[in-house]
Amino acid sequence: MTVLDQTSTNRPNRPSPYGLPAGLGGMPLPEVSGVDPGWIRAIVSGTERLTREQALDLYHQAPLHALGRWADARCRVLHGDAIRTYVIDRNINYTNVCTAHCTFCAFRRDDSDSDSYTLTYDEIGRKVRELVDAGGTQILMQGGMNAGLPLSWYEDLMRYLKAEFPQVHVHAFSPPEFIEFVRFFDPPGDTLDHKLEWVFCRLIAAGLDSLPGGGGEIFAYPVRRRIGYDKCRAEDWLTVMRVAHKLGLNTSATMMFGHIEGIADRIHHMDLVRDWQDRSIADFAAGGGGRYKAFIAWPFQRENTPLGRVPEWDPDSGEPFPGDEMALGRDHDRFGKQVRMAGATTYLRTQALSRLYLDNIYSIGASWVTMGPHIGQLAMSFGANDMGSVMMEENVVSAAGTTYCLTEPVLCHLIRTAGFIPAQRDNEYNLLRVYPATNERAPDLEIRDWSEQRAERMTLHGVKQDGPAGDVVPITLSQSESN
Ligand code: SF4
Repeated sequence: MTVLDQTSTNRPNRPSPYGLPAGLGGMPLPEVSGVDPGWIRAIVSGTERLTREQALDLYHQAPLHALGRWADARCRVLHGDAIRTYVIDRNINYTNVCTAHCTFCAFRRDDSDSDSYTLTYDEIGRKVRELVDAGGTQILMQGGMNAGLPLSWYEDLMRYLKAEFPQVHVHAFSPPEFIEFVRFFDPPGDTLDHKLEWVFCRLIAAGLDSLPGGGGEIFAYPVRRRIGYDKCRAEDWLTVMRVAHKLGLNTSATMMFGHIEGIADRIHHMDLVRDWQDRSIADFAAGGGGRYKAFIAWPFQRENTPLGRVPEWDPDSGEPFPGDEMALGRDHDRFGKQVRMAGATTYLRTQALSRLYLDNIYSIGASWVTMGPHIGQLAMSFGANDMGSVMMEENVVSAAGTTYCLTEPVLCHLIRTAGFIPAQRDNEYNLLRVYPATNERAPDLEIRDWSEQRAERMTLHGVKQDGPAGDVVPITLSQSESN
Protein backbone atom coordinates (compact mmCIF):
# COMPACT_ATOMS: atom_id res chain seq x y z
CA MET A 1 0.00 0.00 0.00
CA THR A 2 1.37 3.41 -0.90
CA VAL A 3 0.36 6.50 1.00
CA LEU A 4 -1.62 7.63 -2.01
CA ASP A 5 -3.45 4.37 -2.54
CA GLN A 6 -7.07 5.38 -2.92
CA THR A 7 -8.35 1.90 -2.30
CA SER A 8 -6.93 1.66 1.22
CA THR A 9 -10.07 2.81 2.92
CA ASN A 10 -10.66 0.16 5.53
CA ARG A 11 -8.55 1.46 8.34
CA PRO A 12 -9.80 0.46 11.78
CA ASN A 13 -11.40 3.16 13.84
CA ARG A 14 -8.96 4.68 16.28
CA PRO A 15 -9.51 7.20 19.03
CA SER A 16 -8.66 10.74 18.11
CA PRO A 17 -5.52 12.35 19.58
CA TYR A 18 -7.79 15.29 20.37
CA GLY A 19 -10.46 13.06 21.90
CA LEU A 20 -12.11 14.72 24.87
CA PRO A 21 -14.93 13.67 27.17
CA ALA A 22 -18.22 14.19 25.43
CA GLY A 23 -19.31 17.59 26.59
CA LEU A 24 -20.82 18.70 23.30
CA GLY A 25 -21.51 22.11 24.67
CA GLY A 26 -24.70 20.83 26.28
CA MET A 27 -26.34 20.64 22.88
CA PRO A 28 -28.54 17.74 21.85
CA LEU A 29 -27.41 16.06 18.66
CA PRO A 30 -29.89 15.69 15.84
CA GLU A 31 -30.98 12.13 15.21
CA VAL A 32 -31.17 10.91 11.65
CA SER A 33 -32.84 7.75 10.49
CA GLY A 34 -30.22 5.10 9.76
CA VAL A 35 -27.49 6.79 11.80
CA ASP A 36 -26.74 5.19 15.17
CA PRO A 37 -26.97 8.01 17.77
CA GLY A 38 -24.28 6.36 19.91
CA TRP A 39 -21.92 6.16 16.96
CA ILE A 40 -22.37 9.78 15.92
CA ARG A 41 -21.92 10.82 19.55
CA ALA A 42 -18.62 8.93 19.61
CA ILE A 43 -17.53 10.67 16.40
CA VAL A 44 -18.48 14.06 17.79
CA SER A 45 -16.75 13.45 21.11
CA GLY A 46 -13.61 12.20 19.38
CA THR A 47 -13.61 8.69 20.79
CA GLU A 48 -14.18 7.14 17.39
CA ARG A 49 -13.04 8.08 13.89
CA LEU A 50 -14.83 8.23 10.61
CA THR A 51 -13.63 5.84 7.94
CA ARG A 52 -13.56 7.00 4.35
CA GLU A 53 -16.62 4.92 3.48
CA GLN A 54 -18.54 6.36 6.39
CA ALA A 55 -17.52 9.88 5.42
CA LEU A 56 -18.70 9.31 1.86
CA ASP A 57 -22.01 8.00 3.13
CA LEU A 58 -22.44 10.99 5.41
CA TYR A 59 -21.61 13.39 2.61
CA HIS A 60 -24.18 11.90 0.28
CA GLN A 61 -26.90 10.92 2.71
CA ALA A 62 -26.88 13.06 5.84
CA PRO A 63 -29.27 16.02 5.81
CA LEU A 64 -27.32 19.26 5.54
CA HIS A 65 -28.61 20.65 8.82
CA ALA A 66 -27.74 17.45 10.72
CA LEU A 67 -24.24 17.36 9.28
CA GLY A 68 -23.83 20.99 10.25
CA ARG A 69 -25.00 20.42 13.81
CA TRP A 70 -22.76 17.41 14.27
CA ALA A 71 -19.82 19.45 13.00
CA ASP A 72 -20.84 22.34 15.23
CA ALA A 73 -21.00 20.02 18.24
CA ARG A 74 -17.54 18.69 17.43
CA CYS A 75 -16.31 22.27 17.15
CA ARG A 76 -17.79 23.08 20.56
CA VAL A 77 -16.01 20.07 22.09
CA LEU A 78 -12.69 21.51 20.95
CA HIS A 79 -13.32 25.24 21.16
CA GLY A 80 -16.16 25.74 23.61
CA ASP A 81 -19.44 27.51 23.08
CA ALA A 82 -18.43 31.13 23.41
CA ILE A 83 -15.48 32.37 21.39
CA ARG A 84 -14.74 32.31 17.67
CA THR A 85 -11.53 33.82 16.41
CA TYR A 86 -9.91 35.85 13.67
CA VAL A 87 -6.38 37.04 12.97
CA ILE A 88 -5.05 40.25 11.52
CA ASP A 89 -2.45 39.34 8.96
CA ARG A 90 -1.50 40.40 5.50
CA ASN A 91 -1.27 38.22 2.45
CA ILE A 92 1.87 39.23 0.57
CA ASN A 93 2.49 37.62 -2.79
CA TYR A 94 6.14 38.50 -3.33
CA THR A 95 6.33 37.43 -6.97
CA ASN A 96 3.94 36.30 -9.69
CA VAL A 97 6.67 34.71 -11.79
CA CYS A 98 6.09 30.97 -11.72
CA THR A 99 7.46 27.83 -13.35
CA ALA A 100 4.19 25.96 -12.90
CA HIS A 101 1.13 26.23 -15.13
CA CYS A 102 -1.82 25.38 -12.93
CA THR A 103 -4.98 25.46 -15.01
CA PHE A 104 -6.96 27.04 -12.16
CA CYS A 105 -4.54 29.94 -11.77
CA ALA A 106 -4.99 33.45 -13.16
CA PHE A 107 -2.14 34.88 -11.11
CA ARG A 108 1.04 33.42 -12.58
CA ARG A 109 3.21 35.12 -15.18
CA ASP A 110 6.32 34.26 -17.13
CA ASP A 111 9.35 36.36 -16.28
CA SER A 112 9.17 37.96 -19.74
CA ASP A 113 5.56 39.11 -19.36
CA SER A 114 5.12 42.85 -19.12
CA ASP A 115 3.11 42.58 -15.90
CA SER A 116 5.36 40.12 -14.10
CA TYR A 117 6.74 41.40 -10.83
CA THR A 118 8.93 40.63 -7.84
CA LEU A 119 8.50 42.94 -4.88
CA THR A 120 11.53 44.70 -3.45
CA TYR A 121 12.32 44.46 0.26
CA ASP A 122 11.22 48.08 0.61
CA GLU A 123 7.85 47.33 -1.00
CA ILE A 124 7.37 44.31 1.25
CA GLY A 125 8.49 46.36 4.25
CA ARG A 126 5.90 49.06 3.49
CA LYS A 127 3.16 46.46 3.42
CA VAL A 128 4.29 45.02 6.75
CA ARG A 129 4.45 48.50 8.27
CA GLU A 130 0.81 49.07 7.27
CA LEU A 131 -0.07 45.73 8.84
CA VAL A 132 1.66 46.59 12.11
CA ASP A 133 -0.05 49.99 12.18
CA ALA A 134 -3.39 48.19 11.79
CA GLY A 135 -2.67 45.95 14.80
CA GLY A 136 -1.64 42.94 12.70
CA THR A 137 0.52 40.14 14.01
CA GLN A 138 1.58 38.01 11.06
CA ILE A 139 2.27 37.95 7.35
CA LEU A 140 1.25 35.16 5.05
CA MET A 141 3.82 35.29 2.28
CA GLN A 142 3.60 33.05 -0.75
CA GLY A 143 4.54 33.54 -4.35
CA GLY A 144 5.02 31.92 -7.65
CA MET A 145 7.99 29.61 -8.07
CA ASN A 146 10.53 32.04 -9.43
CA ALA A 147 13.74 30.47 -10.74
CA GLY A 148 15.42 33.88 -10.85
CA LEU A 149 15.60 34.31 -7.07
CA PRO A 150 18.61 32.78 -5.27
CA LEU A 151 18.44 31.33 -1.77
CA SER A 152 20.20 34.43 -0.45
CA TRP A 153 17.23 36.55 -1.63
CA TYR A 154 14.93 34.58 0.70
CA GLU A 155 17.38 34.51 3.58
CA ASP A 156 18.06 38.22 3.35
CA LEU A 157 14.33 38.90 3.17
CA MET A 158 13.73 36.88 6.36
CA ARG A 159 16.56 38.71 8.13
CA TYR A 160 15.28 42.07 6.92
CA LEU A 161 11.76 41.33 8.18
CA LYS A 162 12.97 40.08 11.56
CA ALA A 163 15.24 43.09 12.01
CA GLU A 164 12.53 45.60 11.07
CA PHE A 165 9.49 43.84 12.51
CA PRO A 166 10.61 41.38 15.21
CA GLN A 167 7.06 41.16 16.56
CA VAL A 168 5.60 39.91 13.27
CA HIS A 169 5.16 36.18 12.74
CA VAL A 170 6.40 35.08 9.32
CA HIS A 171 4.10 32.39 7.91
CA ALA A 172 5.65 31.80 4.51
CA PHE A 173 6.45 29.56 1.54
CA SER A 174 4.09 26.75 0.68
CA PRO A 175 5.24 23.17 -0.08
CA PRO A 176 5.37 23.65 -3.89
CA GLU A 177 7.75 26.56 -3.35
CA PHE A 178 9.94 24.40 -1.13
CA ILE A 179 10.04 21.62 -3.72
CA GLU A 180 11.17 24.16 -6.30
CA PHE A 181 13.74 25.57 -3.84
CA VAL A 182 15.29 22.11 -3.83
CA ARG A 183 15.37 22.12 -7.63
CA PHE A 184 16.64 25.69 -7.94
CA PHE A 185 19.28 25.61 -5.18
CA ASP A 186 20.48 21.99 -5.46
CA PRO A 187 21.16 21.69 -1.72
CA PRO A 188 23.37 18.93 -0.26
CA GLY A 189 21.71 15.66 0.76
CA ASP A 190 20.99 12.15 -0.55
CA THR A 191 17.22 12.24 -0.24
CA LEU A 192 14.46 14.76 -0.73
CA ASP A 193 13.99 14.86 3.04
CA HIS A 194 17.64 15.73 3.62
CA LYS A 195 17.67 18.39 0.91
CA LEU A 196 14.49 19.91 2.27
CA GLU A 197 15.89 19.86 5.77
CA TRP A 198 18.95 21.80 4.62
CA VAL A 199 16.84 24.51 2.98
CA PHE A 200 14.50 24.64 5.96
CA CYS A 201 17.37 25.09 8.40
CA ARG A 202 18.71 28.02 6.39
CA LEU A 203 15.33 29.74 6.27
CA ILE A 204 14.44 29.00 9.89
CA ALA A 205 17.80 30.43 10.97
CA ALA A 206 16.98 33.54 8.96
CA GLY A 207 13.52 33.97 10.51
CA LEU A 208 10.89 31.66 9.03
CA ASP A 209 8.28 30.86 11.72
CA SER A 210 5.71 28.54 10.14
CA LEU A 211 4.42 27.23 6.82
CA PRO A 212 1.11 27.89 5.05
CA GLY A 213 -0.68 25.05 3.33
CA GLY A 214 -0.94 26.49 -0.16
CA GLY A 215 -0.73 24.22 -3.17
CA GLY A 216 -2.63 21.34 -1.61
CA GLU A 217 -5.48 21.55 -4.15
CA ILE A 218 -6.63 17.92 -4.49
CA PHE A 219 -4.08 15.20 -3.76
CA ALA A 220 -5.51 12.42 -5.94
CA TYR A 221 -3.06 11.90 -8.80
CA PRO A 222 -5.51 11.86 -11.77
CA VAL A 223 -6.92 15.21 -10.65
CA ARG A 224 -3.63 16.77 -9.68
CA ARG A 225 -1.84 15.99 -12.92
CA ARG A 226 -4.64 17.65 -14.90
CA ILE A 227 -4.92 20.85 -12.90
CA GLY A 228 -1.39 21.37 -11.60
CA TYR A 229 1.05 21.18 -14.52
CA ASP A 230 4.65 21.34 -13.31
CA LYS A 231 3.55 21.46 -9.70
CA CYS A 232 4.76 19.08 -7.01
CA ARG A 233 3.20 15.68 -6.43
CA ALA A 234 0.98 15.12 -3.42
CA GLU A 235 3.54 12.93 -1.71
CA ASP A 236 6.16 15.66 -2.07
CA TRP A 237 3.71 18.22 -0.65
CA LEU A 238 3.14 15.99 2.35
CA THR A 239 6.87 15.33 2.72
CA VAL A 240 7.63 19.06 2.90
CA MET A 241 5.12 19.36 5.72
CA ARG A 242 6.54 16.35 7.53
CA VAL A 243 10.03 17.83 7.43
CA ALA A 244 8.62 21.13 8.70
CA HIS A 245 6.94 19.29 11.56
CA LYS A 246 10.15 17.42 12.35
CA LEU A 247 11.97 20.74 12.63
CA GLY A 248 9.34 22.15 14.97
CA LEU A 249 7.34 24.31 12.56
CA ASN A 250 3.58 24.32 12.63
CA THR A 251 1.78 24.32 9.31
CA SER A 252 -1.70 24.43 7.88
CA ALA A 253 -3.39 22.30 5.24
CA THR A 254 -5.69 23.36 2.45
CA MET A 255 -7.97 21.88 -0.15
CA MET A 256 -9.34 23.53 -3.28
CA PHE A 257 -12.41 21.69 -4.49
CA GLY A 258 -15.35 22.13 -6.81
CA HIS A 259 -13.74 21.45 -10.18
CA ILE A 260 -13.01 18.09 -11.82
CA GLU A 261 -12.61 16.01 -8.66
CA GLY A 262 -15.02 13.47 -7.23
CA ILE A 263 -16.46 13.65 -3.74
CA ALA A 264 -14.35 10.63 -2.81
CA ASP A 265 -11.26 12.62 -3.86
CA ARG A 266 -12.08 15.24 -1.24
CA ILE A 267 -12.30 12.57 1.43
CA HIS A 268 -9.11 10.93 0.18
CA HIS A 269 -7.43 14.34 0.51
CA MET A 270 -8.63 14.76 4.09
CA ASP A 271 -7.58 11.20 4.84
CA LEU A 272 -4.00 11.87 3.79
CA VAL A 273 -3.86 15.03 5.91
CA ARG A 274 -5.24 13.12 8.91
CA ASP A 275 -2.91 10.19 8.39
CA TRP A 276 0.23 12.31 8.03
CA GLN A 277 -0.84 14.39 11.01
CA ASP A 278 -1.05 11.18 13.06
CA ARG A 279 2.49 10.35 12.04
CA SER A 280 3.83 13.80 12.86
CA ILE A 281 2.20 13.72 16.28
CA ALA A 282 3.45 10.19 16.97
CA ASP A 283 6.99 10.81 15.73
CA PHE A 284 7.73 14.40 16.67
CA ALA A 285 5.35 15.75 19.33
CA ALA A 286 7.43 14.51 22.25
CA GLY A 287 10.48 16.27 20.84
CA GLY A 288 8.76 19.59 20.34
CA GLY A 289 7.82 18.97 16.73
CA GLY A 290 5.16 20.82 14.80
CA ARG A 291 1.88 19.72 13.28
CA TYR A 292 -0.98 20.86 11.12
CA LYS A 293 -2.71 23.48 13.20
CA ALA A 294 -5.47 24.31 10.77
CA PHE A 295 -7.35 23.12 7.74
CA ILE A 296 -9.20 25.35 5.34
CA ALA A 297 -11.02 24.35 2.18
CA TRP A 298 -12.34 26.67 -0.48
CA PRO A 299 -14.11 26.29 -3.79
CA PHE A 300 -12.34 26.85 -7.09
CA GLN A 301 -12.83 30.35 -8.54
CA ARG A 302 -13.13 30.08 -12.29
CA GLU A 303 -12.82 33.55 -13.82
CA ASN A 304 -9.79 34.21 -16.04
CA THR A 305 -8.51 30.62 -15.71
CA PRO A 306 -8.10 27.88 -18.32
CA LEU A 307 -9.92 25.42 -16.07
CA GLY A 308 -12.78 27.88 -15.78
CA ARG A 309 -13.46 27.51 -19.50
CA VAL A 310 -14.17 23.80 -19.11
CA PRO A 311 -17.92 23.21 -19.49
CA GLU A 312 -20.01 22.56 -16.46
CA TRP A 313 -21.51 19.14 -15.82
CA ASP A 314 -25.30 19.06 -16.02
CA PRO A 315 -26.67 17.24 -12.96
CA ASP A 316 -29.97 16.73 -14.81
CA SER A 317 -28.28 14.92 -17.68
CA GLY A 318 -28.67 11.54 -16.02
CA GLU A 319 -24.95 10.99 -16.54
CA PRO A 320 -22.69 10.47 -13.50
CA PHE A 321 -20.12 13.17 -12.87
CA PRO A 322 -16.87 11.88 -14.44
CA GLY A 323 -14.81 12.92 -11.41
CA ASP A 324 -16.93 10.72 -9.15
CA GLU A 325 -16.44 7.77 -11.46
CA MET A 326 -12.66 8.23 -11.57
CA ALA A 327 -12.45 8.70 -7.81
CA LEU A 328 -14.16 5.34 -7.37
CA GLY A 329 -11.72 3.64 -9.74
CA ARG A 330 -13.89 3.62 -12.85
CA ASP A 331 -12.29 5.22 -15.94
CA HIS A 332 -14.40 7.81 -17.68
CA ASP A 333 -13.58 9.36 -21.05
CA ARG A 334 -15.09 12.71 -20.00
CA PHE A 335 -12.91 12.97 -16.91
CA GLY A 336 -11.26 16.41 -16.79
CA LYS A 337 -13.60 17.70 -19.49
CA GLN A 338 -16.39 18.75 -17.15
CA VAL A 339 -16.32 20.74 -13.94
CA ARG A 340 -18.76 20.67 -11.05
CA MET A 341 -18.62 24.05 -9.39
CA ALA A 342 -19.36 24.22 -5.67
CA GLY A 343 -22.11 26.47 -4.37
CA ALA A 344 -22.92 27.41 -0.80
CA THR A 345 -24.47 24.13 0.34
CA THR A 346 -21.68 22.08 -1.20
CA TYR A 347 -19.20 24.31 0.56
CA LEU A 348 -20.93 23.98 3.92
CA ARG A 349 -21.33 20.22 3.53
CA THR A 350 -17.65 19.80 2.66
CA GLN A 351 -16.50 22.01 5.51
CA ALA A 352 -18.74 20.23 8.03
CA LEU A 353 -17.36 16.89 6.91
CA SER A 354 -13.80 18.17 7.28
CA ARG A 355 -14.52 19.09 10.91
CA LEU A 356 -15.79 15.59 11.63
CA TYR A 357 -13.13 13.76 9.62
CA LEU A 358 -10.07 15.74 10.68
CA ASP A 359 -10.34 14.83 14.33
CA ASN A 360 -6.66 15.53 14.94
CA ILE A 361 -6.65 19.08 13.58
CA TYR A 362 -7.40 21.90 15.95
CA SER A 363 -8.74 24.64 13.75
CA ILE A 364 -11.13 24.63 10.81
CA GLY A 365 -11.25 27.95 9.00
CA ALA A 366 -14.24 29.49 7.24
CA SER A 367 -13.54 30.65 3.71
CA TRP A 368 -15.50 33.89 3.59
CA VAL A 369 -12.88 35.23 1.18
CA THR A 370 -14.36 33.12 -1.59
CA MET A 371 -17.84 32.38 -0.24
CA GLY A 372 -18.73 35.84 0.98
CA PRO A 373 -19.29 37.22 4.47
CA HIS A 374 -22.70 35.69 5.05
CA ILE A 375 -21.79 32.15 4.08
CA GLY A 376 -18.63 32.66 6.13
CA GLN A 377 -20.83 33.57 9.05
CA LEU A 378 -22.97 30.49 8.50
CA ALA A 379 -19.82 28.38 8.33
CA MET A 380 -19.36 29.02 12.06
CA SER A 381 -22.44 26.86 12.58
CA PHE A 382 -20.97 24.18 10.32
CA GLY A 383 -17.81 23.40 12.26
CA ALA A 384 -15.58 26.42 11.67
CA ASN A 385 -14.01 28.00 14.75
CA ASP A 386 -12.02 30.63 12.92
CA MET A 387 -12.85 33.36 10.44
CA GLY A 388 -9.30 33.71 9.22
CA SER A 389 -7.86 37.07 8.51
CA VAL A 390 -9.01 40.58 8.04
CA MET A 391 -8.12 40.84 4.37
CA MET A 392 -5.82 43.76 3.71
CA GLU A 393 -4.65 42.40 0.40
CA GLU A 394 -5.27 39.38 -1.74
CA ASN A 395 -3.89 38.78 -5.24
CA VAL A 396 -4.15 35.12 -6.14
CA VAL A 397 -7.80 34.25 -5.67
CA SER A 398 -8.91 37.72 -6.70
CA ALA A 399 -7.13 37.22 -10.02
CA ALA A 400 -9.45 34.27 -10.60
CA GLY A 401 -12.72 35.99 -9.87
CA THR A 402 -14.06 37.30 -6.65
CA THR A 403 -12.80 37.89 -3.18
CA TYR A 404 -14.35 39.79 -0.34
CA CYS A 405 -12.50 42.33 1.75
CA LEU A 406 -13.66 42.88 5.32
CA THR A 407 -12.44 45.21 8.02
CA GLU A 408 -11.94 44.18 11.63
CA PRO A 409 -15.22 45.78 12.82
CA VAL A 410 -17.20 43.94 10.15
CA LEU A 411 -15.47 40.65 10.92
CA CYS A 412 -16.22 41.09 14.64
CA HIS A 413 -19.80 42.01 13.80
CA LEU A 414 -20.23 38.85 11.73
CA ILE A 415 -18.90 36.68 14.56
CA ARG A 416 -21.02 38.41 17.19
CA THR A 417 -24.26 38.29 15.21
CA ALA A 418 -23.62 34.58 14.57
CA GLY A 419 -23.94 34.14 18.33
CA PHE A 420 -20.29 34.12 19.40
CA ILE A 421 -17.79 36.42 21.10
CA PRO A 422 -15.15 37.64 18.63
CA ALA A 423 -11.52 37.34 19.65
CA GLN A 424 -8.32 38.27 17.87
CA ARG A 425 -5.80 35.42 17.90
CA ASP A 426 -2.20 34.94 16.90
CA ASN A 427 -0.71 32.26 14.66
CA GLU A 428 -0.61 29.79 17.55
CA TYR A 429 -4.30 30.39 18.31
CA ASN A 430 -3.50 32.22 21.53
CA LEU A 431 -6.21 34.76 22.25
CA LEU A 432 -4.82 38.30 22.07
CA ARG A 433 -8.01 40.32 22.62
CA VAL A 434 -11.44 39.05 23.55
CA TYR A 435 -14.41 41.29 22.79
CA PRO A 436 -17.52 40.41 24.79
CA ALA A 437 -20.44 42.83 24.49
CA THR A 438 -19.28 44.51 27.69
CA ASN A 439 -15.97 45.49 26.12
CA GLU A 440 -16.37 49.05 24.90
CA ARG A 441 -13.13 48.74 22.90
CA ALA A 442 -14.62 46.03 20.73
CA PRO A 443 -13.99 47.10 17.12
CA ASP A 444 -17.59 46.50 16.06
CA LEU A 445 -19.13 48.15 19.12
CA GLU A 446 -17.13 51.32 18.50
CA ILE A 447 -18.89 51.85 15.19
CA ARG A 448 -21.56 54.52 15.52
CA ASP A 449 -22.71 54.82 11.90
CA TRP A 450 -22.95 51.16 11.02
CA SER A 451 -24.78 51.51 7.72
CA GLU A 452 -22.07 53.79 6.41
CA GLN A 453 -19.42 51.35 7.57
CA ARG A 454 -21.18 48.54 5.77
CA ALA A 455 -21.63 50.41 2.55
CA GLU A 456 -18.08 51.56 2.56
CA ARG A 457 -16.41 48.43 3.78
CA MET A 458 -18.41 45.37 2.85
CA THR A 459 -17.45 45.35 -0.77
CA LEU A 460 -17.00 42.62 -3.25
CA HIS A 461 -13.94 43.08 -5.42
CA GLY A 462 -14.09 41.79 -8.95
CA VAL A 463 -11.32 41.71 -11.53
CA LYS A 464 -11.69 44.16 -14.34
CA GLN A 465 -12.18 41.99 -17.37
CA ASP A 466 -10.01 44.24 -19.52
CA GLY A 467 -7.43 45.00 -16.86
CA PRO A 468 -4.41 43.18 -15.51
CA ALA A 469 -4.86 40.46 -12.93
CA GLY A 470 -5.37 41.85 -9.47
CA ASP A 471 -6.74 45.17 -10.79
CA VAL A 472 -9.85 45.32 -8.69
CA VAL A 473 -12.98 47.39 -8.80
CA PRO A 474 -15.26 47.72 -5.80
CA ILE A 475 -18.82 46.52 -6.21
CA THR A 476 -21.37 47.24 -3.52
CA LEU A 477 -22.67 44.46 -1.33
CA SER A 478 -26.14 44.73 -2.77
CA GLN A 479 -24.73 44.17 -6.23
CA SER A 480 -22.83 41.13 -5.04
CA GLU A 481 -25.97 39.63 -3.56
CA SER A 482 -27.79 39.95 -6.81
CA ASN A 483 -25.08 38.16 -8.79
S1 SF4 B 1 -1.28 28.34 -8.42
FE1 SF4 B 1 0.74 28.92 -7.65
S2 SF4 B 1 2.09 27.27 -8.42
FE2 SF4 B 1 0.22 27.19 -9.67
S3 SF4 B 1 0.68 28.49 -11.46
FE3 SF4 B 1 -0.36 29.80 -9.93
S4 SF4 B 1 1.32 30.76 -8.83
FE4 SF4 B 1 2.19 29.00 -9.89
